[in-house]
Amino acid sequence: MKIMDGHCDALTKLFVNPKLDFGKEEQELDVSYPRLKHAGVRVQCFAIYLSDTIQQPTFDHILQMVDIFHRKIVSHPGMRFIQNVQDWHDMEAGEQVGAILTLEGVDALAGNFTHLRILYHLGVRSIGLTWNYANWAADGVMEPRKGGFTRKGKLMLRELETMGIIADVSHLSQTAFWEMVEVYRKPFIASHSNAQKICPHPRNLSDDQIKAIIQCQGLIGITFVPYFVDSVNLAVPIAALLKHIDHVCSLEGERHIGFGSDFDGIEQWIKGLRHTGQYENLIEALCKNYREAQVEAFLFGNWRNFMLANLPK
Ligand SMILES: [Zn+2]
Repeated sequence: MKIMDGHCDALTKLFVNPKLDFGKEEQELDVSYPRLKHAGVRVQCFAIYLSDTIQQPTFDHILQMVDIFHRKIVSHPGMRFIQNVQDWHDMEAGEQVGAILTLEGVDALAGNFTHLRILYHLGVRSIGLTWNYANWAADGVMEPRKGGFTRKGKLMLRELETMGIIADVSHLSQTAFWEMVEVYRKPFIASHSNAQKICPHPRNLSDDQIKAIIQCQGLIGITFVPYFVDSVNLAVPIAALLKHIDHVCSLEGERHIGFGSDFDGIEQWIKGLRHTGQYENLIEALCKNYREAQVEAFLFGNWRNFMLANLPK
């Protein structure tokens, strides 16, 4: 079965440890070409993520990661860089694995809109507005003051809309989320977040947030971070993940569910989902609980519909 995964941090690992080889199966790399291929992943989003790894991230750090994305990921003959709808169709017509470049947290842009537009030119197609804490644009979910957007942050939303970069609300504070719903006029995503009703963690989405994402024709990437799946048990089984899917379905979000594993950004894993190559265990659990058409939509179809509607033509 075909899969799209909306979030991973493999790029950060390749940045921190230049010896890692994306083309080989590496113990340390949850997401690598052999594992993507083994799993049947057709499209993987790769996040440029700096907030937790570099003290004061700059635009130059972002450029270094774009460079690594090109040299180590999309230069692999089995990979294809997806920047627009045509690239997506070309990917589907062939055997290559599609790669979408994203940014997690705008900290390093320091409010510079020229840099923001340069990222668009370099192929960045989705931007997570914050990581856990505040930056110049908005507050993240773990920022104690629980603020919303700055004036400049709201201007950035306008800029994203104009350029056609997809806004990603995972990590964003509740206040900022609702401010965004008021001003932002395009569909947006939560690339790696679960349902608060099932697991009450601030990184997860409230029912009202889930409904707002459904309402805007957006997408929720159900994530494999164990403590966003189950707040009580340490050993989290795949079955616990299905509760989040059921819950989003109960809010009429069946067509707005995808997956955003957060592989390579986690140090604990769901049992049976240790790396991308183990997606087959999730597929098996899904097939036991949902109709085939539903499973195909969760794994790929919903993301596909979203991307074809929101990637630049
Ligand atoms: Zn994240």
